Amino acid sequence: MNGLTYVQKKFIDYINTIMGTNKLSHSYLIEIGDFSLEFPFILLFVKMMLCPLEVASTSQLNCNRCNTCKLIDDGNFPDLEIIEADGAQIKKKQLLSLKDEYQKKSLIGKRRVYIIKDAEKLNPSSANTILKFLEEPEEDIVAVLITKNRYQVLDTILSRCQVLSLLDTSDIGVIDDGINQFIKYLIKGEDLFIYYKEIYDHILPDKETAKNSFILIEKIFIQYLSLTARGDSLTQFEFLSNVDNKKILSYITIIEEELPKLVYNINYKLWLDAIYSRFVEV
Ligand SMILES: [Zn+2]
Repeated sequence: MNGLTYVQKKFIDYINTIMGTNKLSHSYLIEIGDFSLEFPFILLFVKMMLCPLEVASTSQLNCNRCNTCKLIDDGNFPDLEIIEADGAQIKKKQLLSLKDEYQKKSLIGKRRVYIIKDAEKLNPSSANTILKFLEEPEEDIVAVLITKNRYQVLDTILSRCQVLSLLDTSDIGVIDDGINQFIKYLIKGEDLFIYYKEIYDHILPDKETAKNSFILIEKIFIQYLSLTARGDSLTQFEFLSNVDNKKILSYITIIEEELPKLVYNINYKLWLDAIYSRFVEV
């Protein structure tokens, strides 16, 4: 596949890593920008989970050899269900019939996958049904929820999914001094305690600011890597120029993993302590 964006490459690398280390989760929430453009990547992820020949993911969108990949491309693979909103909402009965169907059918390949498009359209009642699914994950069932905005998805769902993003992040704008300073603290690797007052009194005084700041920080890291890869000017991100790219990738992973937890953390300072100490360990 030529012409992949940095984010798409990162997505595929990440999936390769989790498949290679057997760290597949039971539920993913994938944030996308444009459904028709990104859907082939969602299907690629699905094929990476289902293809018996273990599709060579970085070079092609399917293995071109097995029946599974072909059936997935044609929308006819029995162990893959795609649920779309029935009108403005995804209804409980749609999920119940999915559950029913998966309980009746016998498994063809390694596992089953279901995709829920527009996961923000899950209402509290359909979300409840999904949560029962997610809370008792069958060994062989993987949920892939898709949304254009993770923050519109019900917190109860968000907190149980691993969030991956395919969003293009080329719209950062001017980075304010506080964020700039905070990133410097993060990458210095010193204890949070040293900057405690500055951070909690000024830079990240509340949960909402902390959430938005980490979303921005992740974008900054991704943008930085994407610029480095292209050999573009880095003046906007001078403060990152001495940091190893591998470290930056680790930082992105930490934010991806920790940010969803902020939603259900009542005390955001505890959350910040936890994420900060992971940064320090990188
Ligand atoms: Zn295949």
